Amino acid sequence: MIKKNINKILREIPEYVQLVAISKTKSNEEILDAYNSGQISFGENKIQEMTKKFEDLPKNIDWHMVGHVQSNKIKYMAPFVNLIHGIDSFKALKIINKEGEKNNRLIKCLLQLKISNETSKFGLDAEGLKEIIFSDEYKSMNYVKIIGIMSMASNTSKNELIKNEFLYARKIFEEIKKFDEKFSVLSMGMSNDYKLAIDCGSNMIRVGSLIFGSRNY
Ligand SMILES: *Cc1c(COP(=O)(O)O)cnc(C)c1O
Repeated sequence: MIKKNINKILREIPEYVQLVAISKTKSNEEILDAYNSGQISFGENKIQEMTKKFEDLPKNIDWHMVGHVQSNKIKYMAPFVNLIHGIDSFKALKIINKEGEKNNRLIKCLLQLKISNETSKFGLDAEGLKEIIFSDEYKSMNYVKIIGIMSMASNTSKNELIKNEFLYARKIFEEIKKFDEKFSVLSMGMSNDYKLAIDCGSNMIRVGSLIFGSRNY
């Protein structure tokens, strides 16, 4: 079933869109099912869970951290994480840079842009986000690279609202991209809204329940 779900999504999305399978709360067996069908990129939202899975599962898996990042836990993923999606403070960026140096790795991350008015969503506003990217302090960091933006739309059935939120993220993305060709990832879209996200310019989608079924927390 997992394999079928992945293939269905892959058939529907353009080739330039990267599918990150969000495997939080799912077992190693379920992840291996997806892996054996060719899926390499997986996302988790808890560092401890991701670290355990990294240890247990094939080493060529491309691990993404999509949850809100607590500064004191960055050191645990610094040795292996491929992309950190949800950075929304200078403080976290500085710690990633420090941990990148310790591990002698350039750690890639995305800044989270807040596009929804829902209070539960983390993220920077456009001004705060640009302030970080264009700052001298960030430019002096050698072990962290911001390669794009991550956003989450409102959890609503109002497609027009979701679309406006995604289009806003795209606008900010394009504005920054003009100054930095390595700024290339726009991570938006989940099980319920990935098609709309792609229509609005997303090139990385984070899909969980549509692949693995609903989660029991
Ligand atoms: C859980 C999660 C997803 C996937 O959500 P689904 O609705 O199951 O596809 C995507 N992005 C983030 C940040 C998540 O925490």
